[in-house]
Amino acid sequence: MSIALADLQALERRFLMRTYRRAPVEFVRGEGALLWDAEGKEYLDFLGGISVCSVGHCNPAVLEAVCEQAARLMHASNLFYTEPMVRLAERLSESSLGGRVFFANSGTEANECAIKIARKHAHRRGIAAPQIVSFDGDFHGRTYGALSATPKLASDPDLGPMLPGFRSVPLNDAAALREAVGESTAAVLIEPIQGEAGVYPVSDEALLAAREACDASGALLILDEIQTGVGRCGSLWAYEQTPVRPDVLTSAKALGGGMPIGACVTTPEAGGVLEPGDHGSTFAGGPVASAAALAVLGIVDEPALLRGVRERGAALREGLLALDGVREVRGRGLMLGVGLEDGVDAAAIGADLLGRGLVVNVPEPGTLRLLPPLTVEPDQIERAVAAIGAALVSFSAR
Ligand code: PLP
Repeated sequence: MSIALADLQALERRFLMRTYRRAPVEFVRGEGALLWDAEGKEYLDFLGGISVCSVGHCNPAVLEAVCEQAARLMHASNLFYTEPMVRLAERLSESSLGGRVFFANSGTEANECAIKIARKHAHRRGIAAPQIVSFDGDFHGRTYGALSATPKLASDPDLGPMLPGFRSVPLNDAAALREAVGESTAAVLIEPIQGEAGVYPVSDEALLAAREACDASGALLILDEIQTGVGRCGSLWAYEQTPVRPDVLTSAKALGGGMPIGACVTTPEAGGVLEPGDHGSTFAGGPVASAAALAVLGIVDEPALLRGVRERGAALREGLLALDGVREVRGRGLMLGVGLEDGVDAAAIGADLLGRGLVVNVPEPGTLRLLPPLTVEPDQIERAVAAIGAALVSFSAR
């Protein structure tokens, strides 16, 4: 089956809802940090399917787990036991908060579960109208609960009304956060590093303020690790490199190595809030996605790999900072936002890089976002830095 790009684009215009602006490339194959388009052109993938393909495209261990499980049992429903799901819950719990897990099919659904836990937990404390506090710039997903906690998108009047009980304070404003958390707060729901906004880390001071305010009020601290987790920042969970531990953690994206899966993980205390009938999902925790996630964690949850992420991240950051046109590099491990000098058009640089065979993303006008596979090779980092340098030079020569 092969089709010209122009015909594919015409079909897309006719049959797909216009929710995405796609770059004019059809990818047909991937291996490790590499992608190939339909013309056979090779690309270095420094976006990893937006932080999904962290163990590389078509990772052999993930592939084997998926094929083996799919050949045996693809789906049985949550009315019965399947071993991969239970083993995955055990592994997620023991590697983080020690409580219980609810599986979902995506990041936004993992956050829906967290929001439901927070609201029920608040009602049990006698709060009639529970509030959830986030930071301006946070992104938690597109379903209505997660969307209501995503200030930028929640303010779109065409998509309203949002769920009641959500508010936000400026990023890293610890005093405003302390002030916003009170008697009716159910939870503080934040990303440890804002990804979609352009890679903006939350300061330790703001995280500590969130933890202390939650402890003082009885609210839950929910960390959305959908983009930062599964090794992306150089520890299995980003919170491990901060002074706080959440009550609830959400994961998705890289967890399935390309298979759709999300998870909401709790402490033992928060794990008892939801009871039979409170929540559910037909596909969630299915055997194939769970088998893939177990294979991913088998690769990522290893000290040598996580050390490699920190080392490769440091090398990438150093290379980028040496380039003319780069103002700053934000983030941790291999989740980096490259802040370009004023006047440099990041969208033009991103398009130029695609032409040079480097896939990156432009989350906001002045920023390139880099999310390469955690297994990226040192020479691939050098090639990416050289390509970004060349794109910046050609832009300044225009
Ligand atoms: N939370 C964060 C931090 C994200 O980056 C994303 C996706 O970009 C989501 C939630 C939503 O995840 P999904 O697109 O799988 O629903």
